[in-house]
Amino acid sequence: MGPIGLVDGRIIDLSEKIVEMEDRGYQFGDGVYEVTRIYNGRPFALRPHIDRLYHSLRGLRIPGVYTFDELAAFHERLIKESGLTSAAVYLQITRGVAPRYHGFPETTVPRLTMSIRPAKTNTELQASGAKAIYVPDERWLRCDIKSINLLGNILAKQAGKEAGAFEAVQVRGRIVTEGSSSNFFLVKDGVLWTHPVNNLILSGITRTLVIEKLAPQLGLPVIEKEFDRSFAFKADEIFLTGTTTEIMPLVLMDGDRVGDGKPGPVTRKLVAAYDELVAQECGSK
Ligand code: PMP
Repeated sequence: MGPIGLVDGRIIDLSEKIVEMEDRGYQFGDGVYEVTRIYNGRPFALRPHIDRLYHSLRGLRIPGVYTFDELAAFHERLIKESGLTSAAVYLQITRGVAPRYHGFPETTVPRLTMSIRPAKTNTELQASGAKAIYVPDERWLRCDIKSINLLGNILAKQAGKEAGAFEAVQVRGRIVTEGSSSNFFLVKDGVLWTHPVNNLILSGITRTLVIEKLAPQLGLPVIEKEFDRSFAFKADEIFLTGTTTEIMPLVLMDGDRVGDGKPGPVTRKLVAAYDELVAQECGSK
């Protein structure tokens, strides 16, 4: 019992060697992925994750192959066989194996691999608030596709890590887009601001939950509009959202204190409302 994998429907040990030399995911980063959190042995927000997976697959013209029910069943099998109740499931689909040539192969059999590992909420950091830095957004122009080709994101995250920060927040031109693996929100005069959904950010599932469920529940207006760093500098509060990040207050941005340097009241309410939402869907958090 513990971390395990699943390849095209078959449970495997994570040490098993399964990647073929000419898998296009391995050679080109030609594939897409999703990460779903498991709380209390149940997947959280699985439907929107799988819907986004189909969006990513369509974006790269990789055949869908697996239905929602099949993918949901694979999640259940990983949860059951691993015995893990607080975990994250990683799911990846590549265009499959073909002799190396940039253009798509004539016939493709997409390859699905999945794994499950323990995961937990970083409640200490959520309580204290985290630190982030700004970095230039060097990614491609289809950030709406959750591609496994994450070089821009990796370089950003590493820059953050080297600066002792939890996250690196990317800036394209003058516009603040999103974190290397999270969406970016700020609070100004009781209003939430975040980058609009387009090709420059990933439409985060947690972001959508904040906008469509939690903010209305708390009576918070949301503006989905571009803003620059100087606007973010004047924010009362800043937080990140993501499946594993959940809702993470930022208290230090590029060395400058955010608000009074502690997680603000709006962010703390959102954290509590998120925990409740998880408990409603999964039985407990
Ligand atoms: N943006 C990027 C670049 C990400 O990698 C992630 C993490 N998946 C997010 C945003 C947050 O998305 P979600 O809430 O769906 O996890």
